[in-house]
Amino acid sequence: MRVLVLGGDGYLGWPTALHLSDRGHEVAVVDNFARRKYDEELGSQSLVAIEDLSVRVAAWKEVSGKEIPMYVGDLVEADFVYQTVREFQPDTIVHFGEQRAAPYSMIDREHAVYTQYNNVVGNLNVMYAIAELNPEIHLVKLGTMGEYGTPNIDIEEGWLEVEHNGRKDRMLFPKKPGSFYHLSKVHDSHNIEFGCRIWGMRATDLNQGVVYGQQTEQTIRDPRLATRFDYDAIFGTVLNRFVIQAVLGQPLTVYGKGGQTRGMLDIRDTVECLRLAVENPADRGEFRVFNQMTESYSVKHIAELVAERFAGPVQIDYLENPRVEQAEHYYNVKHTGLVELGLKPHFLSDTLIESLFPIVEENKHRVNMENMLPKVKWASAKN
Ligand code: NAD
Repeated sequence: MRVLVLGGDGYLGWPTALHLSDRGHEVAVVDNFARRKYDEELGSQSLVAIEDLSVRVAAWKEVSGKEIPMYVGDLVEADFVYQTVREFQPDTIVHFGEQRAAPYSMIDREHAVYTQYNNVVGNLNVMYAIAELNPEIHLVKLGTMGEYGTPNIDIEEGWLEVEHNGRKDRMLFPKKPGSFYHLSKVHDSHNIEFGCRIWGMRATDLNQGVVYGQQTEQTIRDPRLATRFDYDAIFGTVLNRFVIQAVLGQPLTVYGKGGQTRGMLDIRDTVECLRLAVENPADRGEFRVFNQMTESYSVKHIAELVAERFAGPVQIDYLENPRVEQAEHYYNVKHTGLVELGLKPHFLSDTLIESLFPIVEENKHRVNMENMLPKVKWASAKN
């Protein structure tokens, strides 16, 4: 298949592009390098050095003999999106290309507006390009488990059978997200479901859990193929951040009591889930939703697991929670769709955590300690 990976320079987009290319698909990547610019803005950087996209692409050609054409441009520019789709003629568009940090979207009004504009408008441009140029294209869109929030009922895969006053319908599962970033994903989901209904689009919405890990079968073939590894309070996802804090001898920063439970998955499963979704397209008119996670853990449990596996003393600090979220809650998620397509999950084993320690050890001179403490507060509205 011909697969266009939007956000193909990012933490997950790059390894996914490699995985799909390795499995025999014709892959191209799109990016505007916004993520690298947030690093400049925040005075931060990936713990593991990453090469420019052109170097990465050339390295993959050297290692595998395969080409990955790159299109550099912004998804909020409709002309660029249309031109790229016309030129590459994809069968599938995998859409990772959004601003993805909840704290970034909560810095102030400007960052909230940027996040929603970037994500919602970019996604709409992609939808229109598909509807106008080739409605057969399968859109595989990255959503997040955070769209659902933490309702006091079981979380289904996207849809819910509702009986109300004696009548029944199949409705989108109600969403109760926890940041303006997560809300942008909810808006995307609604827009895409509408596109499926009115234009007969075929779409898969992947409500992904928190991803951990840094290496895949393809990225380890050459250091120039490495993907990013974030540790800071804005972009660092929780397990990755704890591992880095442990190696640096810094306390693991648990927000509140750490009772918040989240769905998680290994980066090796992310790339495999994407392959499964791409190779098994949704039908025309179908808005298919998968909950892309393999296990649930509370933040406290993750911190304890990291502390237990690290060969050295680890302190766990319970900080005042900068976010507004439930401290303790029910969390039971259905996530069988991808397993039915053939996913064989890697569970959060001791080996995975232990494999991250040497990566961090090797790169710890690159850390900016200042950036590890949370400064963005959910409850304060700033311009
Ligand atoms: P990332 O920030 O590393 O990658 C996103 C990429 O998209 C970046 O390279 C960025 O430059 C690009 N991008 C952003 N806006 C763009 C625009 N307007 N035009 C072109 N390119 C643009 O993020 P990631 O961790 O790889 O996440 C990828 C996707 O997966 C996101 O949509 C995110 O919401 C979703 N997701 C990630 C996680 C996780 O744990 N990392 C969890 C759930 C969902």
